[in-house]
Amino acid sequence: MPSAGQDIASVIKKQIEEFGGELSMVDVGTVIEAADGVARIHGLSGVKYSEVLSFPGGVLGMALNLEENGVGAVILGDYLGIKEGDEVKSTGKIIQVPVGNDMLGRVLDPLGRPLDGKGDFSSSDTFPVEKIAPGVVERKSVDQPVQFGLKIVDAMVPVGRGQRELVIGDRVTGKTSLCVDALINQKDSEILGVYVAIGQKASKVAQIVSRLEENGALDNTIVVTANASDPAPLQYLAPYAGCAMAEFFMSQGKDVLIVYDDLTKHAWAYRQMSLLLKRPPGREAYPGDVFYLHSRLLERAARIDANFGGGSITALPIIETQAGDVSSYIPTNVISITDGQLYLEPDLFNSGVRPAVNSGLSVTRVGSSAQLKGMKKVAGSLKSEMAQYASLATFAQFGTEDLDSVTKRQLERGARLTEILKQDENSPLPYENQVTIIFIANSGGFDDFPVEEVRRYETEWHEYVNANLPEVMSDISKSEEINEENEIKLNDAFSAFKSTMTK
Ligand code: ATP
Ligand code: MG
Repeated sequence: MPSAGQDIASVIKKQIEEFGGELSMVDVGTVIEAADGVARIHGLSGVKYSEVLSFPGGVLGMALNLEENGVGAVILGDYLGIKEGDEVKSTGKIIQVPVGNDMLGRVLDPLGRPLDGKGDFSSSDTFPVEKIAPGVVERKSVDQPVQFGLKIVDAMVPVGRGQRELVIGDRVTGKTSLCVDALINQKDSEILGVYVAIGQKASKVAQIVSRLEENGALDNTIVVTANASDPAPLQYLAPYAGCAMAEFFMSQGKDVLIVYDDLTKHAWAYRQMSLLLKRPPGREAYPGDVFYLHSRLLERAARIDANFGGGSITALPIIETQAGDVSSYIPTNVISITDGQLYLEPDLFNSGVRPAVNSGLSVTRVGSSAQLKGMKKVAGSLKSEMAQYASLATFAQFGTEDLDSVTKRQLERGARLTEILKQDENSPLPYENQVTIIFIANSGGFDDFPVEEVRRYETEWHEYVNANLPEVMSDISKSEEINEENEIKLNDAFSAFKSTMTK
């Protein structure tokens, strides 16, 4: 039996514990200066880096500069109402975002607040916005593709699950479009999407959201947006918030494709924030840690080994260049962080080659190990044909009369393959159709058609083959390869198709 003394001791103990609970430290400080979305605060001696601060009127902030005699914080929201003398409370929480399945199909701000008027979600889980990337032990090498549904990408520059592939190019070269197409192609796959818009016009983001919706891909996608009119700190947070939401799915063993559109504007937002916080400017006035800004974000893309739960995050960061200059500061940083790049060229774009991917300058360090067998087989000769064509085309622009027949044939073939690799927006092509069209084009099937007719014949061929050879198509799709028997059937079918076309 417990003695009376023990009882009293336990009661006192309990009271002390509860007393401690109530006493959860609230650090209070005072705003001594507030301007341009940045506040300098006196007090808050116990605050942590990137801790959430509470300003009057429910406005949130984030502590960033922890100095000896004060704290520099950015204000995440409407900063115009905040003035000198205002009281600031620490919250003890490092910045977090809500995560969960019911965020799919929604448009959110970087703090996870809905912007689409579809109401709150029930999810109560949160993930920290900043997280240390998975280590090498947990990772697995990349060997499964993320199908973009775009022939030029899936055949020439395949992207694997867990890879970081940079999409780089000048203004208006189809960067966003290419990435949105990749998201649209996941509508029936098990890969979930996150699209992060940073510093874009609200109208553009609305267009992208409706494009995803019209093509049936929004239900599998989260859109996180901090628009050009939002404060720089929100733009700064957006990609980390999107990544945290993706990490939730990865922690459940799922695959995610995340698009950061774009990191150039992200770097601008960070530069603005850093200058206002009076951090020392370095090259091009960016703060010294601008490399770390993007490296710690892109490190979080990973393919996790099945022993550690599996799942992956594939990242497509976008960088906008000025007049094709890939050697300036931010582009070189991000090129060195990623596993390859899709280089979009204005000249190609303007001459109607869309997607304007320059296949010679685009690379993937993961290579064809992230390609399905059938595609690997047909893409090999496509790559060499295209490389030869690229080098010959430069000479050929001075006239083709004196060229020998082999060179002429290569030029003819190259011109037709270029046509085959063109693709409209919102029209992803299934894997088996990609394999068959490249197989036929490689073996010279389209050489007899005039170049300007090739795309029309391509469309008709897809319809023809889907209608007439359904078992071959489903075999290629299921087995993921193209065997000799099917090759013969395809060649025969193409001859029949061609005779109906030229009649
Ligand atoms: P910005 O620099 O403004 O972000 P961007 O490089 O992201 O531009 P997009 O907005 O994707 O480029 O595309 C620019 C225009 O090109 C859009 O009007 C789009 O409809 C068109 N476009 C992009 N890809 C294709 C395509 N494959 N076929 C036809 N049109 C395309
Ligand atoms: Mg864009």
